[in-house]
Amino acid sequence: MKIGFIGLGNMGAPMAANLANAGHDVTGFDMAEVSVEGVTMAESAAAAAKGAEVVITMLPNGDILRAVAAEVIPAMEAGAAFVDCSTVDVDSARDVAQQAEQAGLLAVDAPVSGGIGGASGGTLTFMAGGSDAAFARAEPLFDIMGQKAVHCGEAGAGQAAKICNNMILGATMIVTCEAFALADKLGLDRQKMFDVVSTSSGYSWSMNAYCPAPGVGPTSPADNGYKPGFAADLMLKDLRLAQQAAASADADTPMGELAQRLYAQFVENEDGKGRDFSAMLPRFEKRGRS
Ligand code: NAD
Repeated sequence: MKIGFIGLGNMGAPMAANLANAGHDVTGFDMAEVSVEGVTMAESAAAAAKGAEVVITMLPNGDILRAVAAEVIPAMEAGAAFVDCSTVDVDSARDVAQQAEQAGLLAVDAPVSGGIGGASGGTLTFMAGGSDAAFARAEPLFDIMGQKAVHCGEAGAGQAAKICNNMILGATMIVTCEAFALADKLGLDRQKMFDVVSTSSGYSWSMNAYCPAPGVGPTSPADNGYKPGFAADLMLKDLRLAQQAAASADADTPMGELAQRLYAQFVENEDGKGRDFSAMLPRFEKRGRS
C-alpha cells in the first residue's frame, strides 16, 4: 500500500518503520529533521499525502492535528483514508473526521496504548472510531503496528475510549502509590502488601503489571529510577483531555478531576516532569498529611 506518515517522533518513527519493514511504500514528513529506516522523506505534509491510499498522523495535540489535516486533506484523492493515531481531544477528532468525509475520504481516529516499547515492537493496542469501511481499510495496518485493534464506534469513539481508560489508570496509579506510602507508615512490608493486594480485590494493572514500588512485583520503571515508561507529563495531558471531554459532555468525574490536579501539581510544581507517572510513590513517601 502507498502510505503517507506525518509526525515521526518517539511513536511515529518506529510505527512508520514497521510499516516499511512489512513491505509498504511509506513516504514520511516531520517538522523536525528526522530520518527513518525504509521511509522516503517528503518536503511537506501535503507532498507526503499526495497519491497515498492511507495517510497516518501521529502528532502532539488537537491544534496541530487540525492544522496538518487542513493541509493534507485537500492533497488526498477521494476514497483514500485519513487515519489519526495521535491522542487528541474528542472534538478535534470529530471535526477532522467530518472534514475528511466531506472531501470523500474515509476517516479513522485510532489512538494507541502501549507506549514507545509497543510502537517499536509492533505490539500497540489501537482504539478506533469511524465507519466500518474506514476501519476495514486501516485494520491491516493496525495488525502490523500493533497486536490488537478494537473498533469502538463512530468518529471520536477511539479518543473517548483512550481518555476513559487513562482516567482510570491515572486515578488507580495515584491510589496504589498512596496505599504503599500508607503501608510504609503502618510498618507493613511492601512485598507482603503486593502479595496480598495483587491477589485480592484491590488488584489492578498499576499494582500487578506496573508496580510503582522498586524491587516488588514485575520489572517496571520503578526498578529503573522511574525513567519513563509512560511519562507523568503524558498522563497529565490525557487527564486534561478527559476533563475537557467531561466538561463538554456534562459528566461528573470527581476522581478524574482530582487525579488531573495531582498530576498537574507533580509535573508543574514538583519534580514530576520527565519522570514516569508511577514516580507518585516517592512523592507520597516524602509527605505527611498537611
Ligand atoms: P513526539 O513529540 O515524540 O512526536 C511528535 C512529532 O510530531 C515530532 O517529531 C514533531 O516534530 C512532529 N510534529 C509536530 N508538529 C508537526 C507538524 N505540523 N507537521 C509535521 N510534524 C509535526 O510525541 P510522541 O511521544 O511520538 O507522541 C505522539 C502522540 O502519541 C501524542 O498525541 C501522544 O499523546 C501519543 N501517545 C504517546 C505515547 C508515548 O508513550 N510517547 C503513548 C501513547 C500515545
